[in-house]
Amino acid sequence: MKIVRSRYLPPLRRHVAINLFGVFFVHPNVHVNERLINHERIHTAQMRELGYLPFYLIYLIEWFIRLVMKGNAYLSISFEREAYRHENDFDYLSRRKHYAWVKYLKKKNKKKRERHKKSKNNNG
Ligand SMILES: [Zn+2]
Repeated sequence: MKIVRSRYLPPLRRHVAINLFGVFFVHPNVHVNERLINHERIHTAQMRELGYLPFYLIYLIEWFIRLVMKGNAYLSISFEREAYRHENDFDYLSRRKHYAWVKYLKKKNKKKRERHKKSKNNNG
């Protein structure tokens, strides 16, 4: 993954890095660690399977939709949810299935998941 240090990309200060067409732009003072690189590699995999332009189009559309929904719009985008969920799993990309981000389109019901976990534990 090509890493470019830039004062201008990403344009917003609150974001430390941006992946544009597989090139990773990061502000000069940001520490680039393996977790961050893995996060961006997951985005590159998403881009490659969709085609770059459809990726950015879907990303923007989903972000606009999530703006009117409950919670943080950026963190709720399916591409981000997959990347954040697996950024500490350094083998993830070797076993990742194509279009794995699709399952993150649907918001998981936290209460339902906890209930399921409890009933599983109760059953042994
Ligand atoms: Zn991301």
